[in-house]
Amino acid sequence: MTVPTVATVAQTAAAIAPPLLAWYDRQHRRLPWRSPPGTPPPEPYRVWLSEIMLQQTTVPAVMPYFAKFLARWPTVHDLAAAPVEDVMEAWAGLGYYARARNLHKCAQAVSTRLDGRFPDTVEGLLELPGIGAYTAAAIAAIAFDRPAAVLDGNVERVLARLFAVETPLPQAKPELRRLAGLTTPQQRPGDFAQGMMDLGATVCTPRRPDCLLCPLQESCAARRQGIAESLPRKTEKKPRPVRHAVAFLLQRPDGAVLLRRRPPEGLLGGMLEVPSTPWRDLPWSDGEGKAHAPAAAIDWRPAAGAAEHVFTHFALKITALHGCIGAAEAAEIDGLWQPPGKAALPTVMKKMLGLLPADTAPAGKPAVRSTRNPRRGRARP
Ligand code: SF4
Repeated sequence: MTVPTVATVAQTAAAIAPPLLAWYDRQHRRLPWRSPPGTPPPEPYRVWLSEIMLQQTTVPAVMPYFAKFLARWPTVHDLAAAPVEDVMEAWAGLGYYARARNLHKCAQAVSTRLDGRFPDTVEGLLELPGIGAYTAAAIAAIAFDRPAAVLDGNVERVLARLFAVETPLPQAKPELRRLAGLTTPQQRPGDFAQGMMDLGATVCTPRRPDCLLCPLQESCAARRQGIAESLPRKTEKKPRPVRHAVAFLLQRPDGAVLLRRRPPEGLLGGMLEVPSTPWRDLPWSDGEGKAHAPAAAIDWRPAAGAAEHVFTHFALKITALHGCIGAAEAAEIDGLWQPPGKAALPTVMKKMLGLLPADTAPAGKPAVRSTRNPRRGRARP
């Protein structure tokens, strides 16, 4: 394990804040949840909302959701007063749905217990639902200019390179956390945190770090050693297991499809779903899945094509059966009937609806393929 010496860290820490802050003043990203350098920090509500949305999710994917949430719920009190189902539906497509449930719980805690004011310390923020160590540090630094060590994936990469940390992730995390703490300055810590994030996102990128443009090139051990592109090292991941599901695409004469609400806890908790068989390790043979159909007396026909969706811990291979039902019989079935193109659904469910026969499919039918999250290499559920 390569551990930078105390002297090296102290020397580098002292050397990086001035050029990084000067670079940040000129090159900071313009993002709707940020305030430009030299102006008052952004509202904690905006910082918190953006940081929760950005967990496991890219900036471009978050942008429209952030705008939508702010327009609909401009303050934390507005969000707290909203029905949780509305918040979940507005979140549909952003993935990792436990975040939305905790977002709502957190808004209620801040609105009722704290009169709408977010705590201004890491410790206080950590007591709120859905706020972990990274998010607490980010809010404390960005919204309150506290010298909190903010360590997201971008900052991990920059630090691993600056100090040539060759221990692979995730084992290197404690060391990187220590380095983040040691390098955080007392002056302008919020801008420093955002500068490190921006540097990782725009210059010290995963594949081709642009060291010639980097304000920290003089201090960077990985650049000196010619190993920047190979850092941070990563422990090889085990292959992702595969599960199989058969989706039941049941349609009324008006084209509406049967949907159900999932239980509040667990994967995709509280979201609408297309009924399906259990998601199991073994593929379903022809006709085998029908025992799990939401209605028995239906002429189920295999839908053409197949879809795949990659979750964090497994990939789901989906085939589908399509059936039609009369309006009177449909009224007897538990569930919600919605036009397929209008329902607020998680991405995996949209892919299931993408298997509807062409003459019944919604406009803008999603392509039948895996949709990977470009930032993390996996799909938004
Ligand atoms: Fe990253 Fe290169 Fe800058 Fe080092 S010099 S921090 S590797 S961009």
